Amino acid sequence: MGLLEQKRHFSVNLLDWYMVNRRDLPWRRHNNPYFTWVSEIMLQQTRVDTVIPYFNRFIGNFPTVQALAEAPEEEVLKNWEGLGYYSRARNLQAAARQVMELHGGEMPQDKQAVFALKGVGPYTAGAILSIAFNQPQPAVDGNVMRVLSRYFLIDEDIMKGSTRVLMEELAGELIPEGRARDFNQALMELGALVCTPKAPHCLTCPVMEQCSGRIAGRELTLPVKTKAKPPRPEQRLVAIVEGRGAHRGRVLVRQRPATGLLARMWELPHVLAAPATAGKKAGPLADEPAMALLAGSLWAEGFAARPEGLATHAEHVFSHIVWSLQVYKCTEQDQSNELPLIAAEARAAYDAQAAAKETTAPAQASEPSMIDEANISGSFDEQGEPLSAIAASDPAHDVMSGKGDGQIYRWIGPEDMDKMAFPNIFLKLISSYFAGAYDDVSE
Ligand code: SF4
Repeated sequence: MGLLEQKRHFSVNLLDWYMVNRRDLPWRRHNNPYFTWVSEIMLQQTRVDTVIPYFNRFIGNFPTVQALAEAPEEEVLKNWEGLGYYSRARNLQAAARQVMELHGGEMPQDKQAVFALKGVGPYTAGAILSIAFNQPQPAVDGNVMRVLSRYFLIDEDIMKGSTRVLMEELAGELIPEGRARDFNQALMELGALVCTPKAPHCLTCPVMEQCSGRIAGRELTLPVKTKAKPPRPEQRLVAIVEGRGAHRGRVLVRQRPATGLLARMWELPHVLAAPATAGKKAGPLADEPAMALLAGSLWAEGFAARPEGLATHAEHVFSHIVWSLQVYKCTEQDQSNELPLIAAEARAAYDAQAAAKETTAPAQASEPSMIDEANISGSFDEQGEPLSAIAASDPAHDVMSGKGDGQIYRWIGPEDMDKMAFPNIFLKLISSYFAGAYDDVSE
């Protein structure tokens, strides 16, 4: 079997299989470049089943490039809420504005122009050009590299840039003339349904007869992939501050800074339980020092609150970091009250520890701006758009500046949950609070 014959076998059999077995997905029902683009951005790091309802709602609310470009950012983030990697949503909207300004609202068909859109990398550019415009461009992601590594028995590390270049050349050669749209989707479909990471279904695979990896018994050891650094664990203390007096029935939330991780999204106030120590997992803090530290931290941000007790534990996983959260229910206190001594001491000890840590490990993130989201995606940056106007323009809501750098705080009720964008973990915690899940928490 020569290489040419092996390539031909792959292309022909894969296409035939796809035309019979392809899934009916909402973005496949129209050849609409905007739909293709939105679906490809949503599918990054996210499963098809998860994406479908988000895609339908997003397209329902922003049916055109123009509608997306003109929407308030908060509304776009609200439609993305729960999908994670929120820079994708911000970049998508920024790119929609680029398309309006530079291309009159029409998706460009030129490779360089597509590649120049914010948040569009080589894979997404290839996917848009091939699926929407049937251009013979490869679209190579991790799934495609896995399939090609196995079928052609390629031992190169797929984490290397040189391997990606090799794979793109190979994938480009495999595209049958005039069939880029179907072929690239067929390749993605094979990786998603048949040549899966842990248990490839070789016996039902349309290209198994000439798969070198299977023949060599290497299907489970390919692709070669150097391990990514494990995510850094962080123990964090979270406050659900219950309002009193004028704030009764509301909880305190703060808006994250305009740049960095989860930029401009709303969250419950939280603080590192201990400055991170490289390679060492911080365990949970005992409740007493944790509550003292939390009270001290809230005080430092300009709020007096008394922690009542542990409400729950939670975990949130990013690609480079894992938050283990101890969540405490707190009660708003009169601002004229003195900070309890124990909280002041805890805060002072924490600040001293953090300062010492900073001098020895300046790369560690500091509170509250924390981690740069570039660490997650590697390719996103920020537009520097103004903060959301929703809160500031509504005098019925308490909008406050804290003592932190430019931080904005609000007291919110259940009715605000639909208007503001929260990372999934905080959405769950605040919704649980309003549903009464932590009503019994006390010291
Ligand atoms: S035969 Fe097995 S290893 Fe080869 S492409 Fe098919 S599923 Fe993957």
